[in-house]
Amino acid sequence: MTTARRAADATPLITETDLPPAAHFVDGAFAGASGDGVIDVVDPCTEKVIARVPAGTSQDVDRAVAAAAAAKEQWARRVPRERSEVLHAIADRLAENSEPLARLESANTGKPLAVSRDDVGQAVDTFRFMAGAVRATTSLAAGDYAEDHLSVILREPLGVIGVVTPWNYPLLMAAWKIAPILAAGNTLVLKPSEQTPLTTLKFAELVADLLPAGVLNVVNGYGPVVGARLAEHPDIDMIALTGSVNSGRAVARTAAESLKRVHLELGGKAPVVVFPDADLTAAAQALRVAGFWNSGQECGAACRVLVHESVAEQFVEQLVGEVKTLVVGEPAAGEKVEVGPMVSKAHFDRVTGYLERAQKEGIRAATGGGALDGPGYFIAPTVLVDVPEGAEAARQEIFGPVITVETFTEEDEAVRRANDVPFGLSASVWTENARRSHAVAARLDFGTVWVNSHLVLASEVPWGGFKGSGYGRDLSIYALDDYSRTKHVMHHHGR
Ligand code: NAD
Repeated sequence: MTTARRAADATPLITETDLPPAAHFVDGAFAGASGDGVIDVVDPCTEKVIARVPAGTSQDVDRAVAAAAAAKEQWARRVPRERSEVLHAIADRLAENSEPLARLESANTGKPLAVSRDDVGQAVDTFRFMAGAVRATTSLAAGDYAEDHLSVILREPLGVIGVVTPWNYPLLMAAWKIAPILAAGNTLVLKPSEQTPLTTLKFAELVADLLPAGVLNVVNGYGPVVGARLAEHPDIDMIALTGSVNSGRAVARTAAESLKRVHLELGGKAPVVVFPDADLTAAAQALRVAGFWNSGQECGAACRVLVHESVAEQFVEQLVGEVKTLVVGEPAAGEKVEVGPMVSKAHFDRVTGYLERAQKEGIRAATGGGALDGPGYFIAPTVLVDVPEGAEAARQEIFGPVITVETFTEEDEAVRRANDVPFGLSASVWTENARRSHAVAARLDFGTVWVNSHLVLASEVPWGGFKGSGYGRDLSIYALDDYSRTKHVMHHHGR
């Protein structure tokens, strides 16, 4: 029976002095809030309040937007080399502080330290990649495309970007936005998730002396107040949100009023299509990580297996064998911990609700299936089998440590069913057959498709979805494109 490992001694991950200032970061300084509302920040392992941050208001947003607007011209005028140097300095600063940042992230989210350390490492790499990429942008060659008219394509920043980030990778999702936004010459106002603001505030504290005042601003608060004002603000040129489909819809609807650009990275429900010729051992081992990384609170998680009926029994046995070995616990319980708690009570209730309803429908948990003893919002790593086509657990984003297994008979059926979800973020195909590895990948309606792998990302390659998973790309030069605009300047040089 799985239990959650607890920290053996009372050494906490962080102390008071590791916390960032509990304030908004506006115009280069931490400042008081306009209202007196506060938000409790909770450690999901202990259910105790570890910090309190101000709940921002529209006035706080307006002040931050004014600062970002005032700073935009000067920042945009810096040549790529200068912006690149600042981004490298930010990367260095993050790298120097990687251990305190990882511990702070784990204290706020309950993530195993291995996950938090990986997050910080990837955040550093995102800044380094964008620092390099912005110095090597390409576009159509300047030339005469109409007689006696020289065309030059300029790439310009958009201006002020509003950013809203989620709780599952607080620092990393902030880095995925901040790095390309700054590299492309924009300024920004970022609202972290009200549940996980600590590493974003720490980031602002760490890099405050590296950026001109107003270039980066952080306003804490709730989505329907601070996020909604960012989406609505007339001086914001684009709103970028990583979060749920509902929040994406709300932001896009509001943004439509001012016709500002919208960049959305939303939910996922990644199918894992396993053909009979696949290396089943490799697939099961990969899913042990890709299904449960960040406790399954991962938009690209390998959460929905579609396995050919002829190998289903063998595959499920191997998968369950792997999942049973996962070590669940508090991050402070040691390096071996691989799966932490759900981030909040509300999310814990959501995930356990899916598990209860699935089991009521006759779906069987081959391992796991429910909550672990508290305190903390721990759920046992779960594999649900005998899942019928169309079941809620296989169509909706559970966002927890849960893999569902369905079976299929024909290749066409596998493709149809894999695509039959409202999301289109990522998927994987497992086969040793060369034709199938391309043909099936090409027919899957997802922004990333892995072949014989799952959840491997790199700063050079784009990340983003289709359909209900939103539009716009994080990482890669495509993010730089998204956060800038092309201008065509045409010179008539005939006489
Ligand atoms: P959420 O939508 O509840 O919250 C995300 C952010 O949006 C928070 O900062 C929240 O305060 C804000 N928000 C909520 N309502 C808003 C509104 N009306 N207007 C403006 N902002 C609003 O999502 P979450 O629970 O924090 O994160 C989990 C979701 O994020 C999952 O669906 C997951 O798939 C998705 N996600 C996607 C990616 C990706 O790259 N596609 C990455 C991480 C998370």
